[in-house]
Amino acid sequence: MLKDVPARQRVPLPKLTKANYYDTETDWPYMSVSLFKSFMKCEAATMATLNGNGLSDTNETPLLVGNWVHSAVESEAAHEEFKQEAGEKVLTKSGKLRAEFKQADLMIERLRSDAFFNWAWQGEHESIVTGELFGTEWKGKIDCLDVENGRFFDLKTTADPLKMIWSNRHGGRVLWVTAYGYLLQMSIYKHLLEQTYGKHFDAYIIAVSKSNHPSVRTIDLSREEGRFQIEDDYVKSHLPRILAIESGEIPPLMCNHCDWCADHQLGENTVTIDDLEIEANER
Ligand SMILES: [Zn+2]
Repeated sequence: MLKDVPARQRVPLPKLTKANYYDTETDWPYMSVSLFKSFMKCEAATMATLNGNGLSDTNETPLLVGNWVHSAVESEAAHEEFKQEAGEKVLTKSGKLRAEFKQADLMIERLRSDAFFNWAWQGEHESIVTGELFGTEWKGKIDCLDVENGRFFDLKTTADPLKMIWSNRHGGRVLWVTAYGYLLQMSIYKHLLEQTYGKHFDAYIIAVSKSNHPSVRTIDLSREEGRFQIEDDYVKSHLPRILAIESGEIPPLMCNHCDWCADHQLGENTVTIDDLEIEANER
């Protein structure tokens, strides 16, 4: 009987808090945008992470820089807490703040001096939202939520706000927000918020550039129904396979070009030149 029900629906749903939101235990019962994107990158590495055998990448500098900026504009207390957690990772050998984080401080200053940002950033920060979508439970965390006015904001740090990137799934060169799945994220969050609060929500991405002269660009996604539909269709078409992998019905495939796969490839699984050329072209 239970075999037809995906694993995540058999587990009683735990209450999400800021303390357990990123825990693997809550990744099993709740799908999230980051988990979905991780499965799309590499099924095998994602399952290894869910099972506690993955590679830890929480020390990656771009992630730390993003969190440094996010915590600073959330509150003094959140920033202090993050600084404590980050410890020596943000310092040089001589104990000074690393260049990337000095630049992050410029980004924070730039955001704080921006009148629109200060006006927009009034809502509830790091607000957790859940809901059922496309046949499974989801969790999401909204950077800044303004329920009363039906708006939400997501802050992104980016090397270049005008960067265009080739995207296989979009079939061409698209803006970084599209290529990196941020439109997908905003579309999922919009659905979750609209069903939770029973009203319309507009999404905005506030992009601050990683530069010694940081720019702030607010991307209005309130008229992107068409682009959101493309992202929804992509999620809908891949989610059944992901749920089947999670419930153990289908074995996960290795992508063969991430770090986890490099560590777990078996020399006995021979490949041909053609195989490798196809892989190279898909990368
Ligand atoms: Zn892989």
